[in-house]
Amino acid sequence: MDNAMKSPSIDQCLEERQKERFLNKSRQLAVKYLNKLEELPGTPNNFTYFRKILKKAFIENDTFIRSTNEKIIGTYCVMVPQEIIYAAGARPVQLCSGNYAGVHFGDDIVPRDSCPLVKAVVGNNMVSGSSIYDDCSMYIVPITCDCKKKMAGILKDYKETLELHVPINKLDDTGMDYYVKELYIMMEKIGRITGKKVTRIDLEHQIDEMAVVQDEIYRFIQLKGNRNLLIRGSHAMAVMNSFSYDDKTCWAANLKLLNNELEVKLKQKNYITKKKLPRILITGSPIAFPNLKIPLLIEEMGGVVVADETCMGDRGLYDPVAVCDTSMDGLMRALANRYVLPCSCPIFTENRQRIERIKQMVHDYQVDGVIYHVLRGCLVYDFEYQEMEKVLGELGISMIRVESDYNEEDVEQIKIRMEAFVEMIKFR
Ligand code: SF4
Ligand code: SF4
Repeated sequence: MDNAMKSPSIDQCLEERQKERFLNKSRQLAVKYLNKLEELPGTPNNFTYFRKILKKAFIENDTFIRSTNEKIIGTYCVMVPQEIIYAAGARPVQLCSGNYAGVHFGDDIVPRDSCPLVKAVVGNNMVSGSSIYDDCSMYIVPITCDCKKKMAGILKDYKETLELHVPINKLDDTGMDYYVKELYIMMEKIGRITGKKVTRIDLEHQIDEMAVVQDEIYRFIQLKGNRNLLIRGSHAMAVMNSFSYDDKTCWAANLKLLNNELEVKLKQKNYITKKKLPRILITGSPIAFPNLKIPLLIEEMGGVVVADETCMGDRGLYDPVAVCDTSMDGLMRALANRYVLPCSCPIFTENRQRIERIKQMVHDYQVDGVIYHVLRGCLVYDFEYQEMEKVLGELGISMIRVESDYNEEDVEQIKIRMEAFVEMIKFR
């Protein structure tokens, strides 16, 4: 019989059904969280654009990726300089996953006590069918925590995967030199995929373009942290998450429209509420779409998220690249410095900087309480909890540790604790 006429095998049928079930569950979750965002009172008009990006990527399974012929590079941490990927003629897409359906599959090959983010990433790769993963030509995995390290090894079975060794001590010049060398290797490997050799001018151009994005993000962070509530933190976190799945220039242009809308509201004193609600800062493990459970629960329980120190939120995006030397090496070093030095991720051996940053944010955004979010199995963040609690306690700022997983089973329990926390702040 002609090959094309052959019926699919039982294994192929099972695989197809498994993929369909996985995609359905993934879509249902994305729909649920997008609906919750839509139902929140005070949704800004210009939020629609960002909602559409998330809808396209997670429900319609179609991103900007499919409408371009460009090569896509998947990244798994905010410490991968995006300017280099763009300069090499490709597009970055951030793949840290918040998909509960992925965990179900990842559980089969990742140890039980690993964090759900890594389980979800592995599961998403095992089943495939999701365009943001399938369309990537290569993955870049910074070697940070143990989970990411082992994840890099597993991902090599699915796609070409480049390990990027991030220095674990920011003051160690040898580690930074090594990181810069690895950035050159990364640039060369992407160039091999796209057929483009990066010039100094390309890199400079991308740094300038990204600076425009960072300017708008800076404006946005100031507006969302305003003394009077102009946008809810859950909407803001969805906006920040959507950056990973869009063209950066379009995204920045739409963020500008949203910022302009918020500025008009500020001038007209058209606030979401005139009531004084507890102002909350979220820090801790990444909050990746669709897993917006924590910010949504805070707002459902009567608090407002005015700032976040997480890497799919404020941490990753707004610091500009400081260029002193415009040679190729100068630009590469400036990028290395930008992506590592301000990063307050707890994978660094000495991380006093994170405490200082949170103290500053508490002051700048008049924060009343801090939610310390720990994804189950995320030890690096858990390690820093006690010190943070002690420092904030000395400042009279309450903090609670909230552990969560990628499922809905912990919702009721988290709700009770959040409600008590928010009420405690109200009556303080
Ligand atoms: S938590 Fe740390 S290791 Fe994980 S993505 Fe963020 S910056 Fe990277
Ligand atoms: S930092 Fe935490 S959440 Fe991120 S990969 Fe490592 S263990 Fe998982």
